[in-house]
Amino acid sequence: MNSQAARKPIMLTIALSKGRIFEETVPLLAAAGIHPEEDPESSRKLILGTNRPDVRLVIVRATDVPTYVQYGAADLGIAGYDVLLEHGGEGLYQPLDLDIARCKLMVAVREGFDYEAAVRQGARLRVATKYVESAREHFARKGVHVDLIKLYGSMELAPLVGLADAIVDLVSTGNTLRANNLVAVEPVLEVSSRLVVNQAALKLKRNEVQPVIDAFASAKAPA
Ligand code: AMP
Repeated sequence: MNSQAARKPIMLTIALSKGRIFEETVPLLAAAGIHPEEDPESSRKLILGTNRPDVRLVIVRATDVPTYVQYGAADLGIAGYDVLLEHGGEGLYQPLDLDIARCKLMVAVREGFDYEAAVRQGARLRVATKYVESAREHFARKGVHVDLIKLYGSMELAPLVGLADAIVDLVSTGNTLRANNLVAVEPVLEVSSRLVVNQAALKLKRNEVQPVIDAFASAKAPA
């Protein structure tokens, strides 16, 4: 290696999504000495600089975080467990549950729909969801026959207009379900966000990556 290459700083790229995950990650980044130069809510930039010239943030859709990290376009990322299960986790090291953006993946139905009775009678249920893999596994485990309908958003609408008998969706406060006359009937999964690391970056950029993992581990909210 020539001396110029040896001096070149190694860039760390961290993939984050806007909203709750970004907001709850800011204190963890601060613990690692990383302060974003801009707020993604007010900036249209997709690559944000930080106080550290060797660290940048890329702002991507929550469901795309594992893909950016898997292919090494980002060295680290933060993604919900729901998103990681749908992605499959290939090429990702998952060292830390950060206990942020907590919520539950639940089965929900229209008020008045007797879900228990439908399951008891062995009815074939139509279930709309963005979380096809988690839903498939859940109903297979229960031995319930379902036709899964893949949606990309506004799942709550599906039972109201006859697209589905039930939905599988994330529930935090329950306000969205209540506002649409839906009730949660069964938990599928406890969800929180996790740190994911590209497996090659963990080896090749260990000196840069490990301090971030360690700082996140000591700063994360106590369980
Ligand atoms: P709530 O009304 O508080 O129960 O929130 C439900 C809505 O927020 C649904 O549309 C969910 O898909 C979404 N949601 C809740 N928690 C999360 C989370 N941790 N990550 C992503 N979306 C979430």
